[in-house]
Amino acid sequence: MAFFKIIDKGMGITRLFLGGVHGKEGHSTIYALQEIRNDDVTSGKLVIHNCDESPYVSTLDPDYYQSRVGKEVLYLISSYHPKIYVEAHCYRNENYLKLTSPHRWTESKVPPLIELESGVLIGSASPLIRTSIFAKDDVCITLEMPCKPTKKTLDVYINVLRSIAASGSRDELEKRMMDLYPNQVETAKKYAKEFFGNYPPF
Ligand SMILES: [Zn+2]
Repeated sequence: MAFFKIIDKGMGITRLFLGGVHGKEGHSTIYALQEIRNDDVTSGKLVIHNCDESPYVSTLDPDYYQSRVGKEVLYLISSYHPKIYVEAHCYRNENYLKLTSPHRWTESKVPPLIELESGVLIGSASPLIRTSIFAKDDVCITLEMPCKPTKKTLDVYINVLRSIAASGSRDELEKRMMDLYPNQVETAKKYAKEFFGNYPPF
């Protein structure tokens, strides 16, 4: 489900939204990414890319970044230097607990994802790229929804993507997210500090 679009509104930061980064996820994330409109961006650039289907390798596995699609992800990041980076993922319902459980700290060596609402989850991008190719004040978000989402879930997911697309800086994005999901942002701040040290929430 390859899809590529650039919205360019002149001066400002570059954002990169990537979907379908592994397995069949692109068949679901395309429904959200194609809903982002030119009007959602008021300054700077938004690059949207949905990858083709690929073998499933976790982005927490170093082998992922050696795979064809993993290299594609690295290439897109190094080409566009986004200040705001969003990976759009989807998950199977049976994995909800695994992704959100406190056991994720010990089982996957990363913080649990945080539910915004309706099964839409937020977290940081893989630590393998967060702390190496991005600067500390860049925004790195993983956004998850159930694959084959309901209309309500898809609407929440798209609304979050639109809020991010409309943000011209980290401060603006944090403010928008605080207005929408204050408790979740507080939790994200706590996890980022615990996991990365003195890092911002996303
Ligand atoms: Zn995924």
